[in-house]
Amino acid sequence: MACIPRKPFLAGALREDLTAWCAKECVAKFRANQILDWIYRHDVIAPAEMKNLPLPLRNALATDFFAPGGVIADAVKSSDGTEKLLIELHDGESIEMVLIPGKEDRLTFCLSTQVGCPVGCRFCASGKNGLVRNLSSGEIIEEFLLGTQRAERHPDNVVFMGIGEGLLNFHELSKALFVLTSPEYIGMSPRRITVSTSGYVPGMLKFAELEKEYTLAISLHAADDETRAKIIPGDLRYPIAEIMAAADRYLEKAGRIFTLEYTLLAGVNDSRDAALKLARLARTHHAKVNLIPYNATDSQFKRPSRQAIAEFGKIVSDGGAHVTLRTERGSDGDAACGQLRAKSKHLPH
Ligand code: SAH
Ligand code: SF4
Repeated sequence: MACIPRKPFLAGALREDLTAWCAKECVAKFRANQILDWIYRHDVIAPAEMKNLPLPLRNALATDFFAPGGVIADAVKSSDGTEKLLIELHDGESIEMVLIPGKEDRLTFCLSTQVGCPVGCRFCASGKNGLVRNLSSGEIIEEFLLGTQRAERHPDNVVFMGIGEGLLNFHELSKALFVLTSPEYIGMSPRRITVSTSGYVPGMLKFAELEKEYTLAISLHAADDETRAKIIPGDLRYPIAEIMAAADRYLEKAGRIFTLEYTLLAGVNDSRDAALKLARLARTHHAKVNLIPYNATDSQFKRPSRQAIAEFGKIVSDGGAHVTLRTERGSDGDAACGQLRAKSKHLPH
């Protein structure tokens, strides 16, 4: 295997990183400001495009940093405008991000946090072959910037609902969240950034301690532990009571209500009793419920009928919970997380 050079990523670089680098290169400090400006005001990460830098400095940047480390290797656009990008990373691994247009010209980016996922939910393509590695904060920011270059604009919202369990990569994810929200860097409102978790309790507790108004979504999929065990394997699955206690801690620290995500699987978690239990849980914790119609991968599960989904939603809503149904986006483009990557793995390189 080729030896991979360990270099920092220019995307996600902080002021102090670039000031130190400029000192090492014996160039004036204002160069650091110029580089920061290119990255965070112009979404440029290729030194060759940083026109106001002297050529030797551009070359030195390109040598010392991944700038960028990844490339868009494939793009699949669905009829509804959703575009999924397959990003090939510097070591040949790949991740996905999705650009999702919404009402009134809104745009959401769905980002990945890991290559693969160790949780291995049985319906999800991302977890099929376990975890390959974590993304660094620089790679996460680079993913964001590859998206802004593609869309030629910044998104209104970011959701960490791509490949991986972000709270298992807390250190790098929290650094990326800092860069995304700091006014000195990308400057998004934390409220416009959603972190989705399968309920990894230690990560949820650390997330609460950030005391920032990031949005939290919890992929619950079942309101009782027995049903949940049919969907999520044992190793990284926490008891629902512990997950809800950690979520309450977030509510207290961040001052935000959270969402319970529920992927509907026919005959597994879509009964009337399951809907009543979910309504009760949501009501008790002041949580919203987001129902997700299962997007078929080659797993053992089936999506319930349209009518069954509507009935389930009505029971939860009549039970006193605020319910939304995720509109299906990009179903003709391998929309569910990990599907494009899983497919690319089967392609000859
Ligand atoms: N690991 C985190 C975030 C990434 S998955 C988590 O599990 O929350 C983001 C969301 O996509 C989760 O709610 C997950 O349940 C959902 N998802 C994954 N594969 C899916 C599929 N095939 N159909 C429908 N939803 C899916
Ligand atoms: Fe991982 Fe989320 Fe997929 Fe589960 S649903 S395997 S936690 S990415």
